[in-house]
Amino acid sequence: MLARGIGLLTAAVERGYALGAFTTYNLEVTQGIIAAAERLGKPVIVQAGAGAFSYAGRGPLAAMSLAMAASSRVAVGIHLDHSRNLEEIASCIELGYSSVMIDGSFLPIEANIAITRAAVDLAHGSGVWAEGELGAIGGDENVSVGANPESTMTDPAMVRTFVEETGVDALAVAVGNVHGISTPVEIDLARLSAIHRECTVPLVLHGASGLPDEVIRTVVGLGVAKINLNTELRRAFFEGLRDGLKGAEADSFDAVMRPARDAVEQIVESKLRLLWPDMHPAD
Ligand SMILES: [Zn+2]
Repeated sequence: MLARGIGLLTAAVERGYALGAFTTYNLEVTQGIIAAAERLGKPVIVQAGAGAFSYAGRGPLAAMSLAMAASSRVAVGIHLDHSRNLEEIASCIELGYSSVMIDGSFLPIEANIAITRAAVDLAHGSGVWAEGELGAIGGDENVSVGANPESTMTDPAMVRTFVEETGVDALAVAVGNVHGISTPVEIDLARLSAIHRECTVPLVLHGASGLPDEVIRTVVGLGVAKINLNTELRRAFFEGLRDGLKGAEADSFDAVMRPARDAVEQIVESKLRLLWPDMHPAD
């Protein structure tokens, strides 16, 4: 079923797990994400932002994702990722999204607070929860680049004010995490702990592709209740697709696309297992 309200997020905080939030670009990736969640009987977030919209079109991608969430056996949140645009946020809320992210991290702090506050008001007016970003997460959702300079990391001293003045329900932090897979990425766990102490709402870690399993498990204990993954899914999808095309009967959608869809399902399942303490694989 399509998740409504903030229940998905609060349940994660109360029960000590993190929600996996996976970026979709098309039907097969969405199928893989939801199939993994159904197999484990766990909720999941399917998200998309500008990169995916420019490929698939926002309306078609949203309609497909919302329809698949509605017919799913588990709770599926449909999330707008990294929006800089209040009109886009209003449109997605109108379409039935469960949650939205306003990314004002490219703005000076006062302007970030103002646009985030406006997005939160839009969201809360329709029973939708909102994620903001303080500090700037480096890299690009769609390609891999270098590390995040310390100057753009989230300042723990600013967290309390930002959360109080904006009313956000979740906060995306920059603690060394970078979009895309870039090595080496070092998560500043001391900074994350300091942010966690100051922050009254759950934290979100973007750019988790390529992070070692033990780091992902550690951040879940430090206030992170949503973890975003994109690159590893994309890579799995393309690898599966190449396998499908190599097959002897590569002239049917089942033969070509199913391996790609299955590859996404497999990577999502392995990530979801990391996020629930009760599902950790035997070490
Ligand atoms: Zn992100």
